[in-house]
Amino acid sequence: MYLGSVRFVTRGSGTWRSTTFDHTRRKPEHVEHSYGGVGVDLSVKTLATLSNGKTFPAVKAYRKAKSKIAHLQRSVSRKFKGSNNRKKAILKLQKAHYRVASIRNDATHKLTIYLAKNHSEVVIEDLNVSGMLKNHRLAQAIADGGFYEFRRQLEYKCQWYDSKLTVVDRFFPSSKTCSHCGHVRKGLKLSDRTFVCPRCGFFLDRDWNAAINLALAGSSPVSACGASHKRNSAGRMRRSRKRTPDAGSTSSRVWICLTLGKFLRADKSQY
Ligand SMILES: [Zn+2]
Repeated sequence: MYLGSVRFVTRGSGTWRSTTFDHTRRKPEHVEHSYGGVGVDLSVKTLATLSNGKTFPAVKAYRKAKSKIAHLQRSVSRKFKGSNNRKKAILKLQKAHYRVASIRNDATHKLTIYLAKNHSEVVIEDLNVSGMLKNHRLAQAIADGGFYEFRRQLEYKCQWYDSKLTVVDRFFPSSKTCSHCGHVRKGLKLSDRTFVCPRCGFFLDRDWNAAINLALAGSSPVSACGASHKRNSAGRMRRSRKRTPDAGSTSSRVWICLTLGKFLRADKSQY
């Protein structure tokens, strides 16, 4: 890897930052991926839910700083135009915005690096971000989650770490499909946080179920519960009792594996 020249950029918040950037396209590094394919479901409640049960909490940086930013904005508008006090107030407001962007960026970088480095295939949904932003009730949460930036970073980081990025069609019903039997449940509302399958009785956290469906749509074998899954042509999962370390997770949610017929807690102690 060749590191090019150093350039100086201002962030508009009174700080100068030096940025070293790469002149050439970075070649893929050979990384031994610890795990196989993983499905990633982005949602408003959590930053991301993975098909192995691991969750990354949402940072909600803007929501937390919203009242402070509103206060600083009012402070700017009360000052005389062209005055030094106004300049100082603008600087404070810019710093608050910069802090929000930095917190959001940090969380997205950590997540995308983790995915590209550890998984040989990352499966995500082709989210219609501009369309979703038109929904005013969700717009702020979606913008706060940095969905567009997440995909942009994944695209180049998967190249860096020689991982495969699979983007599933936006009309794929990942949330409405039962990850166990393949039944598509109609009429699932956004407020339904648990997916319950009317056909086989399987139930699971909504985002986790969607992430498993995304993983199954990829080309790599997936493991979420100790059983290795891959959906066959009839829509049902093929079954295997092979266990892989990929099943480890830091989440403590419970899921019921109908393939193995037992309750499992998605933490490392089970595997
Ligand atoms: Zn089902």
